[in-house]
Amino acid sequence: MNEGKNNKNNRGLIAFVLTALVLILLYNAFIIPAVKKAKIKDTNYSFFLKQVDAGTVEKVQIKEDSILFKVKGADGSEQLYSTIKIEDPDLVDRLYKSEKDIDFTGSIEEENPIATFIISWVLPLVFMIVLWLVLMKILSKRMGGLGNAMSFGKSNAKIYVKAQTGKTFADVAGQDEAKEALEEIVDFLHNPQKYADIGADLPKGALLVGPPGTGKTLLAKAVAGEANVPFFSISGSEFVEMFVGMGAAKVRDLFQQANQKAPCIVFIDEIDTIGKKRDGQFSGNDEREQTLNQLLTEMDGFDGKKGVVILAATNRPESLDPALLRPGRFDRRIPAELPDLAGREAILRVHSHKIRTEPDVDYNSIARATAGASGAELANIINEAALRAVRNGRNLVNQSDLEESVEVVIAGYQRKNAVISQQEKEIIAYHEIGHALVAAMQEDSAPVHKITIIPRTSGALGYTMQVDEEEKFLLTREEALAKISTLTGGRSAEELVFNTCTSGASNDIEKATKLARAMVTRYGMSSKFDMIALETVNNQYLGGDTSLACSSETAAQIDEEVNSIIRSAHNKAMQILTDNIGKLHELAHFLLEKETITGEEFMAILKKEQQPAV
Ligand code: ADP
Ligand code: MG
Ligand code: ZN
Repeated sequence: MNEGKNNKNNRGLIAFVLTALVLILLYNAFIIPAVKKAKIKDTNYSFFLKQVDAGTVEKVQIKEDSILFKVKGADGSEQLYSTIKIEDPDLVDRLYKSEKDIDFTGSIEEENPIATFIISWVLPLVFMIVLWLVLMKILSKRMGGLGNAMSFGKSNAKIYVKAQTGKTFADVAGQDEAKEALEEIVDFLHNPQKYADIGADLPKGALLVGPPGTGKTLLAKAVAGEANVPFFSISGSEFVEMFVGMGAAKVRDLFQQANQKAPCIVFIDEIDTIGKKRDGQFSGNDEREQTLNQLLTEMDGFDGKKGVVILAATNRPESLDPALLRPGRFDRRIPAELPDLAGREAILRVHSHKIRTEPDVDYNSIARATAGASGAELANIINEAALRAVRNGRNLVNQSDLEESVEVVIAGYQRKNAVISQQEKEIIAYHEIGHALVAAMQEDSAPVHKITIIPRTSGALGYTMQVDEEEKFLLTREEALAKISTLTGGRSAEELVFNTCTSGASNDIEKATKLARAMVTRYGMSSKFDMIALETVNNQYLGGDTSLACSSETAAQIDEEVNSIIRSAHNKAMQILTDNIGKLHELAHFLLEKETITGEEFMAILKKEQQPAV
């Protein structure tokens, strides 16, 4: 296949032959004599003479300091004996004169030279060869089918060539910027001359960053499908070995293979597993640091013009070692962000090719209802819809399947047989209508799309879905405050109607606090602080948890400010509900009866003239 591999194989073979030789010599020097010895019984000289006289001795070998003789028993069985050699000049005479024809000229041990040869040389050799073949087979299986025997700790990068990933850029919807950047790389691999002529160097490496499920791995596979060059794919975790140095060896091997195959693409998925910042304080993970160092060296070591392009993907770019990100290594960063409205619709359409749908499905409305969903979630929604259609005995997916599966992905399956008491149902209905009413009565909040009090497997006992008319990229202060008011609306309704409060608002409280805190600490939207960053976001793509960057006095003030924002929002919600108490009762009873109502039904009741009190 190639020189490097053959060399490695030859080295393995030579090592094996030498080992086999040594083993066979040892076998001949110790094992065979020991076996032979076991066949020979020690006895005394007088026994020997008696046997000679009795005529049972068949063969005698006189050695330097012992005598070996074979006795044939009456029943025909043979036994070898050994005895001390005693100065006995009559012995030869005695043997000669024995009635039986005793053979005392030859050697007893080497009676059959061919058999001996087979036993001591051919058999062990055959055994060794069989062992070698079996070992090869096991190893080549472990090494990913490359027949790379005797090369422990080598990379198991899978080689993809065109069509094997089965993905192309057409499979990736949205992500236009990322695709554009990657298309340039593909073009470079197709005709490097064009770039060489003008003297341009292409980036050696590109780092795909973005939240989970936004299609980073998919994009890399699509590059492989488009590029028509060998594609090495390995996941960062595959470099992490139990033994120090193994990971580094794998990196070395991977790049060696890649260099031989250039032009080609190397893709390292989840690179943060090996690329974490090295910090002086912890000298904990030697193995990982060695692997990273090896990676850094290798990335410097190869010629960019040769056409090895390294792609990597991560959702924790901030944790990567800065040395990885400097020019000449992963100098290009390709963001794969959560899709916008158009992107979501495109992703839904791409995945809908796989399923059979009714012709009038409105993907736009589904896309609008799924703000913030990743590509993977959207793919899941399509699949859930298809499953639901099958469950309901239909052979085409319709709009309601899709709508229901949006909720399944957001909130889990319906818990159809959850038993909830009437009293609790009432509280839940008022709570949800509280949210919806507060939302509807404020100018800066999104219209209500759906309200339901059917419990879900996620633990939600009901929810109010709001869907923006159009995609929003900015959040104004007014919208943020309106959102917090809406979130407090559920609890407000409980307080107003039942004069109590329940644990059902815990999720609302969490969300409201998070938003209010962000307003104060990161968006500069509070009256108390100016544009100061009081918190920093740690990993923006994974949940976005934050850490405080201020004194503890300021932290106390932040808490106060957050509390006052939420309190005033809560008061506002209370006010709205108090002013519309009639509608609150009417809508809550309607919801109790229907369990799920649409935004239109909700608005129809809301807009209807208030019935005069009887
Ligand atoms: P990650 O960014 O976490 O590597 P993946 O590339 O593994 O995400 O995406 C998971 C799945 O989500 C893909 O297999 C694909 O079905 C779907 N997906 C994600 N983004 C897109 C997209 N832009 N277009 C089409 N499908 C997508
Ligand atoms: Mg991935
Ligand atoms: Zn609520």
